[in-house]
Amino acid sequence: MALEANPNIFANNPLDRAGHFRTNPDWIAEKLADSASLAVPLWNLKPLVLPEEQPGAGKDVGWLPVNMVQAANPSGTTVFLGINRRGKPLFAHDVSSLKDPEGDGPFKGMGGFEDLRAVGMMGELPNTELAILAQAKAMIDWHARHGHCAVCGAQTEVAEAGYKRACPSCKAEHFPRTDPVVIMLATYGDKAFLGRQKIFPKGMYSAAAGFVEPGESIEEAVARELDEEAKIDVKSVRYHSTQPWPFPSSLMIGCIAEATSEDFEIDGIELSEGRWFTRDELAAALDGKADGFFVPPAFAIAHHLVKAFVEGW
Ligand SMILES: [Zn+2]
Repeated sequence: MALEANPNIFANNPLDRAGHFRTNPDWIAEKLADSASLAVPLWNLKPLVLPEEQPGAGKDVGWLPVNMVQAANPSGTTVFLGINRRGKPLFAHDVSSLKDPEGDGPFKGMGGFEDLRAVGMMGELPNTELAILAQAKAMIDWHARHGHCAVCGAQTEVAEAGYKRACPSCKAEHFPRTDPVVIMLATYGDKAFLGRQKIFPKGMYSAAAGFVEPGESIEEAVARELDEEAKIDVKSVRYHSTQPWPFPSSLMIGCIAEATSEDFEIDGIELSEGRWFTRDELAAALDGKADGFFVPPAFAIAHHLVKAFVEGW
């Protein structure tokens, strides 16, 4: 059964993750030896991206035969991503120990290792490919940061096709992490609240956000963040959608919260300014026609929360 499409960039990953093969080392080894299997190399967490064949045609992900990619940097970590719609196994492989792989190395002349956030923002790759790259980047990043056991400090080893690191010393098992972040609009009648951080581009207002803390529900995190950042009191929280956000390993949980009044007071730390906007003002902002302010582009889940509010969600 196909899920309804999620509006967010980095969601809608089309791969069958085929988790049951992760614990089948013979199957993984067979696929790694098969040049029909594909891998995307990542260098310093940047995936290989192939240039446009024709202007305006869009770029492509550098999917190459997996054995060629592994041979380019045999000590790098390989992660099994899943099986694509054509039945091909896809992998990600870390080539960060190479000095200059696109200028003078094995990938010379093929394309460039590009920042995933920039590529996503520019809309230069299909959304389904961005979703696969989000998985690849988050996984390779996790391995790069978790080489040692958090229990005893010994060096850990890759297991289960990249979905586990095992400690040979104390036998602890470590699994890839995803950090939940709530991002929310507060609404009151026909208005929604957006704030500004000092680092935002001039004129941009966005949704408030913060990490979910241990022992906290999503609803409680939304209420706490709105209270901390803007002293906004809410009485109910609805979940809208989520966005995988591999910078490095977050899951943005988009919510819309109903406030008990229009009262607010900016904390001056996380937010430097805040305002209630009417539905009409926000509709104009989505069209790029608002007077004196703008909202984040469709690349950001905040945009889709504003859009949902404007559409009466
Ligand atoms: Zn250990």
